[in-house]
Amino acid sequence: MPSFVITEKCDGCKGGDKTACMYICPNDLMVLDPNAMKAYNQEPDACWECFSCVKICPTQAIEVRGYSDFVPMGSSIVPMMGTEDVMWTCKFRNGVVKRFKFPIRTTPEGTANAYKASKGKDLNTELLFTEEAEGASLRQPLKTA
Ligand code: SF4
Ligand code: SF4
Repeated sequence: MPSFVITEKCDGCKGGDKTACMYICPNDLMVLDPNAMKAYNQEPDACWECFSCVKICPTQAIEVRGYSDFVPMGSSIVPMMGTEDVMWTCKFRNGVVKRFKFPIRTTPEGTANAYKASKGKDLNTELLFTEEAEGASLRQPLKTA
């Protein structure tokens, strides 16, 4: 299920030019209705449920279906961002509420440097970037006669 905005909770980021969800969505899906001052997902079919808008929303107004590998089907999951971790609140279908904390592993904005990190690496090999050379034997191309 793509992102959807709980209108009672959305305050339109208090009228800024670009709301937090508009800023963060990698697919430019979130837009603000200037009359209602509520955000909405303008193209739900294109949402890949990345949770970025859910995490950044300051009022916890956006929900996305939680993947079944970390929450049971039919439950709702809401993140609360801290400086070092995210506190997730999971509400089960039967009303039980559980919370768990997970550390933030995001690379700080502007610090990823693909050129520097790949310096000295053989970019023509089939190995993944972080794979060690001994893994090469598993990935040798099949010899043809
Ligand atoms: Fe509304 Fe949250 Fe989007 Fe801000 S980030 S416009 S509060 S849904
Ligand atoms: Fe965009 Fe990701 Fe939010 Fe979907 S879940 S609207 S792709 S930020």
